Amino acid sequence: MSGAGDILILTKAEPEEGNTGYAQGGIAAAIGADDSPQLHAEDTIAAGDGLCDARAVHVLVENGPRYVRELIEWGAQFDREHDGTPALAIEGAHSARRVLHARDATGREIGRTLWQRAAKLPGVTAHAHARVVDLIVESGRCAGARFIGPDGALHEARADAVLLATGGAGQVYRETTNPAVATGDGVAMAFRAGAAVVDLEFVQFHPTALKVSGQPRFLLSEALRGEGARLINSAGEAFVARYESAGDLASRDRVSRAIAREEDRTGAPVYLSLQQLDAAYVHARFPLISEACRCAGLDLACDPIPVGPAAHYLMGGVETDLDGRTTLLGLYAAGEVACTGVHGANRLASNSLLEGLVFGARAGAAMRADAGTSGPAPLRPDAPDRAGARNGPTQATPQALEPGTTGSLDVRDVMWRQVGLFRDAERLRAALQELEPAWRQADARIRDGARFDLQGWRAVNVLTVAWLIARAALRREESRGAHYRDDYPQRDDINWKNRISDRRSSIVG
Ligand SMILES: Cc1cc2nc3c(=O)[nH]c(=O)nc-3n(C[C@H](O)[C@H](O)[C@H](O)COP(=O)(O)OP(=O)(O)OC[C@H]3O[C@@H](n4cnc5c(N)ncnc54)[C@H](O)[C@@H]3O)c2cc1C
Repeated sequence: MSGAGDILILTKAEPEEGNTGYAQGGIAAAIGADDSPQLHAEDTIAAGDGLCDARAVHVLVENGPRYVRELIEWGAQFDREHDGTPALAIEGAHSARRVLHARDATGREIGRTLWQRAAKLPGVTAHAHARVVDLIVESGRCAGARFIGPDGALHEARADAVLLATGGAGQVYRETTNPAVATGDGVAMAFRAGAAVVDLEFVQFHPTALKVSGQPRFLLSEALRGEGARLINSAGEAFVARYESAGDLASRDRVSRAIAREEDRTGAPVYLSLQQLDAAYVHARFPLISEACRCAGLDLACDPIPVGPAAHYLMGGVETDLDGRTTLLGLYAAGEVACTGVHGANRLASNSLLEGLVFGARAGAAMRADAGTSGPAPLRPDAPDRAGARNGPTQATPQALEPGTTGSLDVRDVMWRQVGLFRDAERLRAALQELEPAWRQADARIRDGARFDLQGWRAVNVLTVAWLIARAALRREESRGAHYRDDYPQRDDINWKNRISDRRSSIVG
């Protein structure tokens, strides 16, 4: 960080509130004796179902061990074997034990380590409860961001370089494992500013979220099945192998669809069962999950736990090069908001904490290297987007989003029912018929200078990302990775071994 100048970090809630704080299973890195970056790359590419960017995968797996060791040097406390080496778990679609974990709260431990490290660096200021609402674009480059502070007023932060690290967009769906902050703000803001977004049709649905009425869809990590938990139907029968030869540890999209089909077939819930495992071990290894189950009146080790799929991770995002540069000069992105191409059409479990670590560091280095210059050419530059060019003076007083901007449209419900696990042209068109007019109306109001309050911006961003996901899902007429079309059930490499990218300028001119 030395020589990086002044750094301002804005988070819209408390710093620890984000998907990272909820990550349970772990972080993948090829550090085991029987493992190698090459094996890790092969698993990542197989999960990505033909759409991974091989260069990005190479960067991830080659650099992963180095950055994970650095985390340990900075104080991250991962679980260890008796001989002191990091304990390595195995998860679905991994061919070796390579998942480091801190019990079932790995993300919290990584976040703690990184925040402690950042707090010691000179020149770093952090503001919590500061919600960035839009990017400032001047002369075709990103020149800062506007945010609503804890005082409720609109502020501007000017910067030579802006990094979006705003995380995922699970809240676009009615059923999600993501916390309330995961509303896709970075994707929506980058799109409004003219940057390219890509691969948005690829939304990963996690098969095992706790499904108890009135309870949050708490994630029941894949590590549980890695340790021997089984999916069973209401008759107590293991059923996944009926639909998927790889059984309970098939990829997440496949297990999710198997659960939905079994629920349809039996008309009854499905369960995760750990009854065959040692109860004391289960509670010690998964304290956080045990506690979440206890709050729902269930004992993780002894009761069948009702589960179902929920939106979990966005493979697509703001398009970046291997150093976090987006298509808009001065704007960088890293973590779940970014699309480096490393995940292709489906993410391998435990690769996303690693992606944030590796590509976040690279983006930081690029921001420093590009500073003070006009910067290297951004990734596939475009003419300045009209919306960006129109970013003028702002009104200091945010106005409430008037009723009717999204009307009575329940975007999250539409997305769950029509742009979810099973898609087809009819359902996708029906979704777009609701989403597109609402988005156009909101977009026109923003272009006319409307300013919203916090809830209003949240609604606009969720709507924008929902509409972009539905658009891409309709265009991709095949099934691949997490994108499954009932009307095109096969993968089609002849026509669709390519990526779908969107820019605002190509839609509204
Ligand atoms: C329940 C769960 C379990 C998971 N388990 C694993 C796992 O075991 N292994 C793994 O690799 N991955 C896992 N993932 C995925 C992984 O946690 C995330 O992809 C990753 O942590 C994302 O990190 P991030 O830094 O990009 O975003 P986040 O950690 O979500 O951070 C985003 C930050 O941006 C802030 N923000 C957002 N919008 C704004 C705005 N408009 N203005 C200001 N601030 C804003 C938020 O407040 C937050 O501080 C899991 C995800 C979930 C939800």
